[in-house]
Amino acid sequence: MAEITNETVASIEMTLSSVDRALERLRAGTYRQCQVCGRAIDDADLIADALLSHCSEHPELA
Ligand SMILES: [Zn+2]
Repeated sequence: MAEITNETVASIEMTLSSVDRALERLRAGTYRQCQVCGRAIDDADLIADALLSHCSEHPELA
């Protein structure tokens, strides 16, 4: 059985904070809005990654 390492915990914490930020954007009504340039994020991109916070113009942030 795999051991739970600090990296595992760090990765879980990162995922949790991504979920938190996505929920905050949902509540604020900015879920579909790119956090970098303000454009609407494509539905297909959000379906592929529900925690996406930026549009396809910023591939370096993915
Ligand atoms: Zn953008």
